[in-house]
Amino acid sequence: METRLCKPTSFVRPEVRQLVPYEVKHMPECVKLDANENPFPWPVGMREDLFSEKLMFNRYPDGMAQDLKNAIAEYTRISSAGILVGNGSDELIQLILLTFGGLGKSMIIHPPTFGMYQISAHLTDTAVVEVPLLNGLDLNTEQMLKAALSPEAHVVIICNPNNPTGTLFSREEILQLVRESGKIVVVDEAYAEFSGETLIPEIENYPNLVILRTFSKSFGMAGLRLGYLLGQPETIAWINRARPPFNVNSFSQKAGILALGYLSEYQVQIQSIKAETQKLYEGLTQVAGVVVYPTKANFILFKPGDPDSWAEELLKRGFLVRNMGVLPTIGKCLRISAGLPEENDRFLRAIREISMGVTGV
Ligand code: PMP
Repeated sequence: METRLCKPTSFVRPEVRQLVPYEVKHMPECVKLDANENPFPWPVGMREDLFSEKLMFNRYPDGMAQDLKNAIAEYTRISSAGILVGNGSDELIQLILLTFGGLGKSMIIHPPTFGMYQISAHLTDTAVVEVPLLNGLDLNTEQMLKAALSPEAHVVIICNPNNPTGTLFSREEILQLVRESGKIVVVDEAYAEFSGETLIPEIENYPNLVILRTFSKSFGMAGLRLGYLLGQPETIAWINRARPPFNVNSFSQKAGILALGYLSEYQVQIQSIKAETQKLYEGLTQVAGVVVYPTKANFILFKPGDPDSWAEELLKRGFLVRNMGVLPTIGKCLRISAGLPEENDRFLRAIREISMGVTGV
């Protein structure tokens, strides 16, 4: 047989060709304020509990993750038939679009918002309809409803509180979209433990309401990749069809179960993260020329005069922050999440220095 030269590039789908890889800086030596994580170590005892488990790593995990679902059911008061777990909520976003999106279908988002919605839409051939936030902060419910009424629109995603603005949207407006759009409405509540607001109790009223949650933020498990979806059993069963059979590994399943047994310890961490976020907010607002957006999450969006040089100066001082680039209707800005108390104190000292024109150390 003749040998044929194969150029993989020529087979790449156009949708993938257009994608810019989602690259996150990996700089463990820095004070990491760029990824909205929980900076505290796990509650005392939890690590030991997890490592003393006799997990059979030569066997596949429980594909149904039944014990984990039972633990989540107790935490959320949603029956386990209404729960789907994923390899981070990132995977679940993709499963939602594989189930309800696709060629000729569209998804409505409210920029500026979490970037993975767009990426998953491209990968699943789902068109994206953007209805920007009013003043970069409030939902444009009227326009979103209008967009949702088009026959191609199948999914509306609302991020609440919104990443990266930190805004908590009105419950009534979201419910209006759930009631009047007639489409699948996904509410991403990745930061709900910080905002204290949730629409979980509304699930029983609406088969088109799906709520996305994660263990990556308040539960400090970003490295283990564990998220979950809540909805009515029939809706969840459809999404379950698109799920790879063993999408959540045994170790992360066990870690999730253990974490839900340490709720009171996590409550203490959450309270402390909220207090630290407030401290950072107040510190930032005291710096002349910096616009700071109010937040209900564990992160803060802010606009210094020259965000690029601020990010650079902060990095020189050992702080990794998220340079958001140019956000629709808001412009260039930076985002930080709360670090450990002492790190936040140092951060505030650093920004005061930078604002006074003291350059790199
Ligand atoms: N949704 C939002 C709003 C997020 O900010 C993030 C993480 N940045 C995710 C989902 C993804 O979280 P996970 O680690 O569970 O994939």
